[in-house]
Amino acid sequence: MLAHKIGSLLFCPTCGTLLDLPKDKEKHVTCEQCGHEEPTSSYEGIEITTGSHPDAFPSALRQKRKTQTKLHEGADQGTLVSEKCPSCGHMEAYSREKQMRSADEGSTILYTCTSCKHGWRVNN
Ligand SMILES: [Zn+2]
Ligand SMILES: [Zn+2]
Repeated sequence: MLAHKIGSLLFCPTCGTLLDLPKDKEKHVTCEQCGHEEPTSSYEGIEITTGSHPDAFPSALRQKRKTQTKLHEGADQGTLVSEKCPSCGHMEAYSREKQMRSADEGSTILYTCTSCKHGWRVNN
């Protein structure tokens, strides 16, 4: 099977992962995902174009290159307060107040450590 070529990039024919450029003296490029070995000869004759169209890449492939951020970094993270993280001891956390349904349960403060992202809650 031959690798898929998009511009100057090669994609694994087995799993579709973007393959790295061959390193010096290596005879093939190994797919990080499935271990498929693509001969570096596949790279020969590829036109290296600058300013290629990133929109041509399937978005799923591009997302794999990004580091995974699980928590929302943005509006919903809460207020920055000085609170000691029980997990790592860091002294800054985001706090959000969560109102319970019944009045006698009071409210709960949700904290998220800014350092290790550990989350915990404190009942009022
Ligand atoms: Zn692969
Ligand atoms: Zn922490």
